Amino acid sequence: MLEVKGLTKKFGGLTALNDVNMSVADGAIHGLIGPNGSGKTTLINVISGFCAPTSGSITMAGREISSLTPYAISRLGMVRTFQNINIFPEMTVLQNSLMGNFMHEQPNLGSVIVGSKGYRAQVKRSMELAEEMLNFVGLAEVRNKQAGTMPYGRQRKLEIARALMTRPKLLVLDEPVAGMNEQESDAVADLLLKLQAKRNITIILIEHDMRFVMKLCSLITVLSAGKVIAAGISTEIQNNAEVISVYLGT
Ligand code: ADP
Repeated sequence: MLEVKGLTKKFGGLTALNDVNMSVADGAIHGLIGPNGSGKTTLINVISGFCAPTSGSITMAGREISSLTPYAISRLGMVRTFQNINIFPEMTVLQNSLMGNFMHEQPNLGSVIVGSKGYRAQVKRSMELAEEMLNFVGLAEVRNKQAGTMPYGRQRKLEIARALMTRPKLLVLDEPVAGMNEQESDAVADLLLKLQAKRNITIILIEHDMRFVMKLCSLITVLSAGKVIAAGISTEIQNNAEVISVYLGT
């Protein structure tokens, strides 16, 4: 699904990513871990087009995407969430999820003239999709609730529902369970496993909660100071001396 080769990103004199390689298999939940400042966010910023690489290549489903805009990359099927909650708090749950579709659909003249047949068909399609996604994440019952008044765990689920509105092939999640209690994070874990199984979506997961990462990820890439120091299955990572010394042991 995604192949990162020799990726380097410099900010002035600082090398945030140094010759990074990462291979994400189709349908996998792939973990990306490492200490603060190791380059995880920079890597997903570069992968998703928010930041241009200094050198290296990124291919998604065989297509080079390293010079594309976030907008074009999202059209190809990659969608990401951010570290901080990024919903519209004043809008309802349903309105928030519709925004995912609104920002993604390619409008044509027939679909932007309010009241036209094309417009009505598009609204109907979007509403049906929103209902389906809210059902999928378990928020259909609260569709008319103001999003900002919901507990944190539900707001995170809403972000995932909104991301799903673009029908992604690859979902990139930046710390989806940060700040959650065990029960809330277990609910998100179940949701991600369901996404993988029922919708065949590939997931890249940045997360500090090791219990969560080890439970979900088939393969894990470990970054430290901008370099990949290990990549493998959870037991290999847990027993890797360098990973323990720079990250897990701390
Ligand atoms: P992580 O997500 O693993 O905590 P980051 O990718 O945020 O790490 O940061 C990696 C390094 O790159 C850090 O030293 C950080 O200060 C630096 N960095 C990140 N973004 C920028 C930027 N826009 N400008 C300058 N330095 C940056």
